[in-house]
Amino acid sequence: MTQRPYHIETMISAKAIAARIEDLAKEIRQAYRDTDKIVVVGLLRGSFVFIADLVRELEMNVEVDFLEASSYGSGTESSREVKILKDLRGPIEGRDVLVVEDIVDTGHTLSAVLKLLQSRNPRKLETIALLDKPARREVDLKATWTGFEIPDAFVVGYGIDFAQANRNLPFIGSVVFDDEVPEAGGKA
Ligand code: 5GP
Ligand code: MG
Ligand code: MG
Repeated sequence: MTQRPYHIETMISAKAIAARIEDLAKEIRQAYRDTDKIVVVGLLRGSFVFIADLVRELEMNVEVDFLEASSYGSGTESSREVKILKDLRGPIEGRDVLVVEDIVDTGHTLSAVLKLLQSRNPRKLETIALLDKPARREVDLKATWTGFEIPDAFVVGYGIDFAQANRNLPFIGSVVFDDEVPEAGGKA
């Protein structure tokens, strides 16, 4: 399959991400101050870079586990079905859990994951999303902590892919298709 030509425009620099994570880590440490160990749950695959930076900045006793969910558009967008492709390795009953997501878009994925994890009776269950696209929300939900609110654009980098590429970019960029770029000085 040939890929439509595109380029990537920087939306959030690596430096801005690092600075934001420092602040978020302080807030999380404060919120979990009476906890001796937290279970950090990364949602695969997009959160893998974020979780790596976040846990190092947290400077807390953490366990790291992963869960992979996939949402399928079954008919209308708002009736999305979320499937668990890979479950946690460890139990979370009575534990203090922090779910780490790359992007909250429609909200269906995080909502379904939280419902599942809540049914296992953790002591505490909070969420952090690096990015939030509030304009796209279909489910009434907000992560406990959000890195950046962004407009409705398709983004890549810092763990997030486009057709499995670009996950290793150190910044967040938006994908711009070359045939959609408005011509400078073009006819109105
Ligand atoms: P939701 O269930 O909230 O609609 O979808 C969340 C998931 O869709 C995110 O965790 C992410 O994996 C994917 N997603 C949403 N927006 C984007 C985007 O701009 N780029 C990429 N690569 N994935 C996205
Ligand atoms: Mg995701
Ligand atoms: Mg993806």
